[in-house]
Amino acid sequence: MYDYDLLVVGSANADLVIGVERRPAAGETVLGGDLAVHPGGKGANQAVAAARLGAATALLARVGDDGHGRLLLDSLRTAGVDTVGVLVGGAPTGVALITVDPSGDNSIVVSPGANSRLTPGDVRAATSLFQASRVVSAQLEIPLETVVEVVRALAPGSRFVLNPSPPRELPVEVLAACDPLIVNEHEARVVLGDACVSEDPADWARLLLAKGPRSVVVTLGAQGALVCDRSGVTRVPSVRVEAVDTTGAGDAFTAALAWKLGTGAAPAEAAAYGARVGAAAVTRRGAQQSYPTAAEVEAL
Ligand code: ADP
Repeated sequence: MYDYDLLVVGSANADLVIGVERRPAAGETVLGGDLAVHPGGKGANQAVAAARLGAATALLARVGDDGHGRLLLDSLRTAGVDTVGVLVGGAPTGVALITVDPSGDNSIVVSPGANSRLTPGDVRAATSLFQASRVVSAQLEIPLETVVEVVRALAPGSRFVLNPSPPRELPVEVLAACDPLIVNEHEARVVLGDACVSEDPADWARLLLAKGPRSVVVTLGAQGALVCDRSGVTRVPSVRVEAVDTTGAGDAFTAALAWKLGTGAAPAEAAAYGARVGAAAVTRRGAQQSYPTAAEVEAL
C-alpha cells in the first residue's frame, strides 16, 4: 500500500513578473507596471497540478525562511499537496525575475537560492517518503547529484519519471531509471547532443530510447506528443483549444501522465490524459493558477 500516488522532488520558486513597454538594454532603466508575484518552479508546479487532479501528492523541496517561501507553502497546501517534505531555510527562496513586453516576449533571471541547497543528504533523510510513493517525479532545477540520489532512493517497484529541464547531458544511471523520460523539442535536442542527427521527432524518441530509458515521451506543444518504448512510437494528438498562456503546460502534462501511469494506465492512455490536462492549462493565464481539477478535464 502506498500513501502517495506521486512524490515530486524539485524546485519551488517565486515568479516576480513586471510588464514593460520595452525590455531594458544593458545599463538602461525602464519603468514597468505593478509587480505580480506567483508561485512557480517546476517541482511545485507539478505537485500542484497532480493534487488538483485528485492525486495524493507530496513534494520534497527546499524554500527559504521568508515571505516567498510562505507564499509557496500556502499555494501547495491550498491545492492539497502534503508539504511534510518541504524543507525551510539555508538560503532565500528561489526567485525568477521576469519582464514581459506587450508582444509577450520575456527576459528571465533565475536565482535558484534554496533549490540549489536541496542535497543528496536531504534525499537520504526522506527515505520514508520514497518508501510510501508509487511514482516519483523529478526535473533539473535542483542539483544533478540530488537527482542521482533520488534514483538510488526509489523503493522497489516504484516508478521514476524525469523531465530534464533545464536540459543537460544525463548520467547513464539516471537515464536507465526513467520510465518515461519526458522532453519537449528543445530538451530532446540538448539531451541527444551530437546524437541528434534528424529533424523528425519520432527519430528523437527512438534515439533517446537507445540511450537507456525504459520509455520516452516527446511533447510537441499544440501538435500533441509521442510515446516511445520497445514496441515502437505512438502518436498522441493534442486537444484543440484556444491557447491563452502556455506557461507551465509541460509541468501539468508531466504530472498528469505520471499519476495516471501509477494507476496502471497504458503509456499512450496516460499521455492522452496528460494532453487533456496540458490543453486545459493553456486556456488560462499563469502556471499553478491555470491547472484544472479532474472535473474540469472531464468537461473539456
Ligand atoms: P513545455 O511546456 O515543456 O514546452 P509543451 O509545450 O510541449 O511542453 O506542452 C506539453 C503538452 O501540453 C503538449 O504535449 C500538449 O499535449 C499540451 N499543449 C501545450 N500547448 C498546447 C496548445 N497550444 N494546445 C493544446 N495542447 C497544448
